[in-house]
Amino acid sequence: MSDTLDAEARALHAATLTIDSHIDIPWPNGPSPFEDGPRRVDLPKMRRGGIAAGCFAAYLPQGPRTPEGHEKAFLRATAMLQSIRAMGEPSEAGLCGRLATTVEEIAAARLEGAPAVIPVVENGYAIGEDLERLVPLRALGARYMTLTHNGHNALADSAVPRRDLGDEAALHGGLSDLGRAAIGRMNELGMMIDVSHVSKPGMLEAAHLSRTPVIATHSSIRALCDHPRNLDDEQLEALAETDGVVQITLVSFFLKAGRKESEVTVADFVDHIDYATGRIGIRHVGIGTDFDGGGGVSGWRNAGESHAVTVELLRRGYDRPAIAALWGGNFLRLMRLAEEAAA
Ligand SMILES: [Zn+2]
Repeated sequence: MSDTLDAEARALHAATLTIDSHIDIPWPNGPSPFEDGPRRVDLPKMRRGGIAAGCFAAYLPQGPRTPEGHEKAFLRATAMLQSIRAMGEPSEAGLCGRLATTVEEIAAARLEGAPAVIPVVENGYAIGEDLERLVPLRALGARYMTLTHNGHNALADSAVPRRDLGDEAALHGGLSDLGRAAIGRMNELGMMIDVSHVSKPGMLEAAHLSRTPVIATHSSIRALCDHPRNLDDEQLEALAETDGVVQITLVSFFLKAGRKESEVTVADFVDHIDYATGRIGIRHVGIGTDFDGGGGVSGWRNAGESHAVTVELLRRGYDRPAIAALWGGNFLRLMRLAEEAAA
């Protein structure tokens, strides 16, 4: 790669409103997000890597579908959302992010030069069987909820059933009646519907049922890597038809079958972007790393190295508007639509 291309890519990256649509946080204890430490994403790394905004997930591992299990999950979700919100408070290190739960707040954080922190929930297990639990989660800022994680829940079947929890191949055949109602309630509340982790029948139904386009916040392409967490061509077409978006993720074994982080490169990641944009168009593709939840490849190990993908995109001929759409424009379009539909 020429120095000129590298300099051009770095300038373009700095000028782009970049959003990473899926980042996990260590829980219950972990290194500070305010210091450049062992986390793959902390505020200093976001600044260094030119990441304007990140969706930080209150992640619930799937547990038993019992009243006790559901209660525990809800309490954990609210505690995690509080912890994510704290990243938007001033810190002793003097560095702070800015809590951003709307498109407008993301833009304001960008103007201030503060990394925007968007709280989200991963796994509808957080609400158990009680749709009204969506209200406090939304009040804590949650802008999307992933309907499932690995393992079926009361809302939907997962792409990866948990046999250890007694999951059969299918529990609901996709969405449950409660899951369909949850989508309606999330639309009313302005929460985007995240279909990553959801079984194919559930994902397809959610895409057509939701009043605003759904998003797969961290999934890659099944045609290139046959993993159940990835989306096949029929699922990609469904996203295109309904104006949804797939955010290509950085988990090495979703990019190349059975491969470790050190064996997968940024070029392999951009191969998935190429496939998706070729198949359904730039408008329906974005980026969600799953850093601190399994994401990371050689050359893009943490948020501080994020310009690497912009270099590769530019090298392959993506122009400035395309790169802006991939890095955040498409995500913001869906977020705005969700806000308008709620209002
Ligand atoms: Zn996940």
